[in-house]
This record gives sequence, C-alpha cells and structure tokens, in this order.
Amino acid sequence: MREDIAFWEIEALRRGLLEGEFSSKELVALFLDRIERFKSLNAFVRLCDDAMKEAEKADVLLKDPVQRKRKPLLGIPVALKDVILTKGVTTTACSRILSNFLPPYSATVTTKLQEAGAIIIGKTNMDEFAMGSSNENSYFGAVKNPWDTERVPGGSSGGSAVCVSARLAPAALGSDTGGSIRQPASFCGVVGIKPTYGRVSRYGIVAFASSLDQVGTFAGTVKDAAEVMEVISGFDRNDSTSVEMEVPKYSASLTGDISGIRIGVPKEYFVGGIDAEVSDSIKKALTLFEKMGARIVDISLPHTEYALAVYYIIAPAEASSNLARYDGIRYGVRAEGANDLIDLYYKTRSEGFGPEVKRRIMLGTYVLSSGYYDAYYLKAQKVRALVAGDFKEAFDNQCDVIVCPVAPTTAFKLGDKVDDPVKMYLNDIFTIPVSLAGLPGLSLPCDFDSKGLPVGLQIVGNAFDEETVFKVAYAFECEAGLKGKHPKMVT
Ligand code: GLN
Repeated sequence: MREDIAFWEIEALRRGLLEGEFSSKELVALFLDRIERFKSLNAFVRLCDDAMKEAEKADVLLKDPVQRKRKPLLGIPVALKDVILTKGVTTTACSRILSNFLPPYSATVTTKLQEAGAIIIGKTNMDEFAMGSSNENSYFGAVKNPWDTERVPGGSSGGSAVCVSARLAPAALGSDTGGSIRQPASFCGVVGIKPTYGRVSRYGIVAFASSLDQVGTFAGTVKDAAEVMEVISGFDRNDSTSVEMEVPKYSASLTGDISGIRIGVPKEYFVGGIDAEVSDSIKKALTLFEKMGARIVDISLPHTEYALAVYYIIAPAEASSNLARYDGIRYGVRAEGANDLIDLYYKTRSEGFGPEVKRRIMLGTYVLSSGYYDAYYLKAQKVRALVAGDFKEAFDNQCDVIVCPVAPTTAFKLGDKVDDPVKMYLNDIFTIPVSLAGLPGLSLPCDFDSKGLPVGLQIVGNAFDEETVFKVAYAFECEAGLKGKHPKMVT
C-alpha cells in the first residue's frame, strides 16, 4: 500500500475505502506498520489486539449501502488517549496505580466512535492522570516531538498529538482540563479542539478535575477535526454535566468566508513572558484575518492574571477528591506487605502515584482542609466566576471569537522544566482561562519559528458555538498555506 495514503484527509480515506481502492484491513496495517517504525517516539502505550479483526468486519459492512451511509468513520483507524476507557483493553491513565486496570465498560466517546465505524487502533501515552504540560510525567516514559526528537510534544495528551503529527493514525482523542489538547496540538503542528464544557460526555473518562475535564479531538486538518467532533459530541444520560442540545453539522460551516466576523484580541495576552517569535506569528495571523475580511477588535479580559492561581487551587482540589478512590482495594495495583488497612493505603498510594500527582493531591487536600477552605477554595471559585464573566462580557458585546496564542513558547527541550513545577505550570497561561470559563478552544498551526518548530494559534468561541470556531479556523487554514507540512522524519 502506498505510504502517502497515511497523510490523506479522512474524506479521501473514506472515498478510497468506499471505492474499493484499499480495504480497511490494509489501512489499519499501514498505520500499525508506521506505529512500529516510529516506536522511538513513544506515542503509544498499547495497541488494540482486535483492531485487525474489527477492520475485517468493517470491510464486510463497507459492501452494505445502508451501513456505508450510516457510519461516517467506517473502517477509519482512530487512537485514544489512555484516559479513555476501552472495554477489554487495559486503561491506565499512564499511572502505575492503574497499570493492571481492565475496564469492564467503555467510555461513551469510545462507543460513539465504534458505532460510527471507526477502528480503535491503540491507546496513547500521556502525563500521569493528565497532570502535566510536557508528557514527561508518564509511567511509560516521555514522548518525543517528531519535529525535533530532543523536544517535548507538550502535554498532557502528548501521545495523541504525536500520533496525528507523525501520522500514526488520522485522528486521535485527547482530554483537556487546562490545555492538554490545545498545547500539545500547538507543539506538534496539528489541529486540536477542546469543546465547550458539557458538549461531550465524560462518562468513562478517568477523572482529573471534573468541573474542567473535556474530551476533544486531534486531527491533521480542521475538517477532519470537525468530522470527528460531530461523532463524539452530544448529550449522554450517563453524564449529568453533558448538555441536552442539538449538535450542529460542524463540517457544514466550513465555507471559507469569514467576512464581517469580529475577532477579539485580548490585550492581556500579549504582555511579558511570551516569546517574541510566537507573538510575531500571532500578529502576522491577525493581519491575514483582516485581509480575509474579518474585523479585529481590541478587548480586555481583566482577570486573566488570576487564572493560573485559581486553576492550581480548583484543579488539585478536585483531583485530590477524585483520586481518593485509588486505595488499593477497589481499583488497580495493591501494595504488598501491608500491616493493616491504613498501612495498605499508605503503601499503595506511595508506590502507585508519581511525584507530580502526589504534589497535586497535597495541594488539593490543603486547600480543601477546614482551616483553609474559605481562604483558598471558596475564594478561587469566586474568582473563577470573574474570569468567566470577562469572556461573557466580550462575547455579549464585542466579538464572535477570540484569537490569541496557545502557549507562550514553541516546544521546549526534554528535561528543561522538570525541576521547576511553576515554570511548567506557566505553559498553560493562555489555555487555562478558557477552561475555567468552560468555553471551546481550538489550536491551529499558524507558522513556524526560526528553529522550524510549529507555532499554534488559539481560536476561542462562545459557549456551544464550536461552529464559528471551526468556520474561522477553516478559513485561516485555507489561506495560510500550511496544510500538508509534516515533520521530515515521518515523511
Ligand atoms: N498542564 C495542565 C495541568 O497539568 C493541564 C493539564 C490538562 O489539561 N489535563 O494541570
């Protein structure tokens, strides 16, 4: 099978399958072969043993006119971040404590993909429990960026980002709590979208911070991302925070016309700390948007400076509560040689969690403790409302989307920030406010820096207005001429 097929868009792959140019089995084999060849990137932690068998079944369905119409991803391989439950396939959140966990059920997003005909090819590497920005916190080792293998892919969904960037699958799902889809997408030069909180079911996702976690998509192009989001979005009675609202056909909004669209540019996002090259790339993009007929509007999100602090109170608080369930009794790994119940908890959790996860649990229990609850947790909740209010004000009165950087820098070197948690946390300074407000954010390649590393642009939409986000992203992608640029080592 021709290697270049691995770089095709989903629509072309679908056409190839429908017209019998290749079978799903051949397609899956092509990607499995690439996964093996680029193993050194460490993007996958597990392959799904029955992928070939599923492809065989898809090949039968591909002959049935009804199924061909009904299943938009029939026969197309997709990868899942290892935080997404897959019945019968070990799911670990890349933590030692879950290293033997075989889920008895699948996440709703997994089921939805399968119902759409997709072949789940494997599980991707990530920071333990999705805590991190570099994918260096994984029990299964760091992931490498295919643009420069001495650099990080971003995190926490680093494996999913690399998977798409190196074309080890045409699309992958990730999760984003404070930037974990958008930042790695930016570092790896692919499209990544975190939808509005409530748009996609969280049922069957290993929980980190429940009021922030959302599942989203990595893909090579805006259209591919839109197509996968159409499949996984929607109300789910198993997730009380999913919203009962119709899912628009996102791919229909990709007209290329954005004349008259008002693009808000927050002044707080172009201050100190941002790399000059990144800032220049974003400004160049804004000029292009203007040329395309969009209107640039200066806006202010005055509470931006508090967002990071608020996040690092709320997210650890929720994490400490969510991770209390890993006690060595109910799930996963149990430590040997404990003297009594307390000792069993102590040993299991000491051995089972990595240092970053322990740090978050300690932060979380501290801010929730009775003496400090009001001063930290309660206060953070109030400030979170102010951060969300800034966005509401902007969308109500001034703009249709907000455009800003995804991260202050391009991909940094492996090991550069591992000893300084605060430096690592600062990576998410532009993605976290959007998460606190529960809004959709898409990361789109917009340029390359002088080292040849991709720069990402963030497009933020109003709540449940992914449609406009996709529309603006698609128009930019058409004009920017970056489509079809891939890391040299994988072409
Ligand atoms: N890097 C952020 C953190 O470590 C965000 C992670 C995420 O979105 N899952 O919390």
